Amino acid sequence: MIKSEQMKKFQKELFVWYEKYGRHDLPWRHTDDLYHITVSEIMLQQTNVPKVIEKYTAFLKRFPSWKKLSRARQSSVLQQWQGLGYNRRALNLHKMAKIIVKDHNGRVPRDPEILQTMPGIGPYTRNAILVFGCNFDLMARDVNIDRVIRRWHGKRQWSEKKAEKIVLTFLPHGRARDFHSALMDFASLICTKRNPQCLQCPFKSQCLAFPDPNDYVRPKKKEPGRSEQGKHIPRRIYRGRIVEILRSKKADTNIIGNKIKKDWDGQKDKRWLTDILLQLQKEGMIIHKNNLWQLK
Ligand code: SF4
Repeated sequence: MIKSEQMKKFQKELFVWYEKYGRHDLPWRHTDDLYHITVSEIMLQQTNVPKVIEKYTAFLKRFPSWKKLSRARQSSVLQQWQGLGYNRRALNLHKMAKIIVKDHNGRVPRDPEILQTMPGIGPYTRNAILVFGCNFDLMARDVNIDRVIRRWHGKRQWSEKKAEKIVLTFLPHGRARDFHSALMDFASLICTKRNPQCLQCPFKSQCLAFPDPNDYVRPKKKEPGRSEQGKHIPRRIYRGRIVEILRSKKADTNIIGNKIKKDWDGQKDKRWLTDILLQLQKEGMIIHKNNLWQLK
């Protein structure tokens, strides 16, 4: 376990680094409006920062409040989400807006237990919203923060329980917001997944992963998907392609198949595609009417 003087040194040096090199211009760093913070956190869940910067301001311009978002048509929300991928997030955000307006007087609940009952809000996003919006003393441990602290401790892997406990000890009381911003920037700019910039790192003399940080990268799990012309394409990519096709027109299963898969074979692939379409229907994203699929 790291001693408390070492921890304080880590926090101090991290803040010095952040002051100088942090991404202070990210648009969501200039607000504590919980609607804005929630939109940014949901967008950042599976989309990279440059793409979110591009879409975040436009989304807020189109839907400037929970109320406006709650009253929008689902198809308009999906339209505005275009380019971000993982459309289910947009549907969940839309549902959340309706709940917040109807049951919470248009305000995001600050109680973590209540917040986590909202659609699409898991433990990480819940804590991130409360950290960035309210500066609560919570830790939002994503894979990047986990990687930095794991390397620093020289751990290739650790149990969830142990990780939670150790990461929380790093949090400086009353500075959760700045600490997360600093650690996230440090993980994205210096202690990157592949080839971290150890020689520029202020922590290299204490870091137990130095000088072999790449040994601490977890092997990536293969996503479920299907082979297309000999290449593995994740299922989420096909889901995104289906929504893109249906944005402009209704289509039957065969037409969709031909458009989303280069080597589409009706006999071999129809059942697989029908499963994806039925799942999208179950999630409330598309409907099936007169033998044609369309966005809801
Ligand atoms: S020395 Fe390298 S591995 Fe260790 S914290 Fe710094 S950048 Fe990351």
